[in-house]
Amino acid sequence: MKIGVLALQGAVAEHIRLIEKAGAEGVVVKKREQLAEVDGIVIPGGESTTIGKLMRTYGFIDGLREFSSQGKPMFGTCAGLIVLAKEITGQDEAHLGVMDIQVARNAFGRQRESFETDLKVKGIGEDVRAVFIRAPLIESVGTGVEILSTYQDQIVAARQGHLLAASFHPELTDDERMHAYFLDMVRDTR
Ligand code: GLN
Repeated sequence: MKIGVLALQGAVAEHIRLIEKAGAEGVVVKKREQLAEVDGIVIPGGESTTIGKLMRTYGFIDGLREFSSQGKPMFGTCAGLIVLAKEITGQDEAHLGVMDIQVARNAFGRQRESFETDLKVKGIGEDVRAVFIRAPLIESVGTGVEILSTYQDQIVAARQGHLLAASFHPELTDDERMHAYFLDMVRDTR
């Protein structure tokens, strides 16, 4: 099983490390053509505006929309979650716009720019280590979207069929269970 990590910007090596720890091969994806070689893809954190711009430049908007429409699993973390969302609060345009969620950027306020906590994540466990860095939150979800985790009554992880999204950075911990969960999603589609 090969899992790609979109390598335009952000925490790429960290995702590759946890994909491999969870038992699959991690592939650094820099070209659109490589999407054909992978069974699922991770869109890492970073800066969503920058990632979106680079995705447009390198043909990844069409490439990843096609990937999604084939039912191939996608996992967005932090900025990657913003990239997946259909609606970004206060912005006219979405990036991929494949997941039926509305998200707010930098939603935890300046005084809490970054923090770590343990979260209960449905389907995984009680104590998943989560690192939040200028994190977005999910303000609302469509009917087909399952809420997997909340933090102080705010939605911070969700799944819609083959799409998985988290406000936080599981790749900045040693806890590979979110990646193992994603690998199970990929296994189920094959
Ligand atoms: N604040 C970033 C954005 O809006 C996301 C931060 C992150 O990925 N750590 O795109």
